[in-house]
Amino acid sequence: MQIELKSPFDAHLHLRDGAMLETTVPASAEQFAGAIVMPNLQPPLTDRHTIDSYRARIEAIGGESFAPAMTLFLTPSHTPADIEALKGVISAVKLSPAGSTTHSEKGLHDLVNNHSFMAVLEAMEAMDLPLCVHGETGDFVLDREAAFAPTYRALARRFPKLRIVMEHLGSRALLPLLDEQPNLYATVTLHHLLLDLDALLGGMLRPECFCKPVIKTPADREALQKVVLDAHPKIFFGSDSAPHPQADKARGAAGIFSAPVVLPALAGFFEQHDALDRMQPFLSDRARDFYRLDLPDRTVRLKKDPWRVPVSYGGVTPLFSGERLIWRVVDGA
Ligand SMILES: [Zn+2]
Repeated sequence: MQIELKSPFDAHLHLRDGAMLETTVPASAEQFAGAIVMPNLQPPLTDRHTIDSYRARIEAIGGESFAPAMTLFLTPSHTPADIEALKGVISAVKLSPAGSTTHSEKGLHDLVNNHSFMAVLEAMEAMDLPLCVHGETGDFVLDREAAFAPTYRALARRFPKLRIVMEHLGSRALLPLLDEQPNLYATVTLHHLLLDLDALLGGMLRPECFCKPVIKTPADREALQKVVLDAHPKIFFGSDSAPHPQADKARGAAGIFSAPVVLPALAGFFEQHDALDRMQPFLSDRARDFYRLDLPDRTVRLKKDPWRVPVSYGGVTPLFSGERLIWRVVDGA
């Protein structure tokens, strides 16, 4: 039994930089024809020069069969003219409200009352440039996504033509927004789809399952599984794969390195639910249409051939480290 996927696409990926690119780029390029590459480096990608040179570093490793689609890290000092100057350079703008995630200290405070932010969104709406949002507040950790719902709603209503992606959606409380607001979309990760807090805290603490937004309750996981299996037209895959060196993980850094196991684990999930035909639209078609991408033409094949996930990739512990997966990527040409 084999699965064939046409040009799989990861709509939310952290590749990091420097020596780590030697691990992260091949891990994704083996399975994906491209990715929306997130800009929260240290320092973040806030201008054309840093974006172009980062793209070149990724392409030098990934080659022609992996297309990185770049993003801008939005800061309070950006103007509409800055965004307009990036037409054709970036595929989206990433908003990480201050304090929400790794390296988001430079993000925006008090969004809806921020006039320069509103002017930037107006320019993006006119350019039809999507906004990708890490939607969490400073509330209790399990409530942070749900508490961001009014901000999503306010932004969607104020800019009805701006396409907004609720990134790495993990709370079922946000799902009704997809049907309520025509211009709200969502990415779903592997870990929010398959895991709940038991995986992180139910036995020994497993730092490789810790991320922001944190994986949540069984009810949240089941609600996400339902909308993905029902092929909701506004949901597509984004891994949010976000590696940290083991030393940082030991200090509690948030981020899950899922890239090496994405397609095998998702194949197991869709097969278990007798829904292998839903993989292609979730893993490529919908994101490709949303971002209007011209991806490298690739066919990635998987077959049933059990393997054990390595405990480390270049000093980073992957999701499902040491566990056995049934499906294996056999050909990504
Ligand atoms: Zn992310």
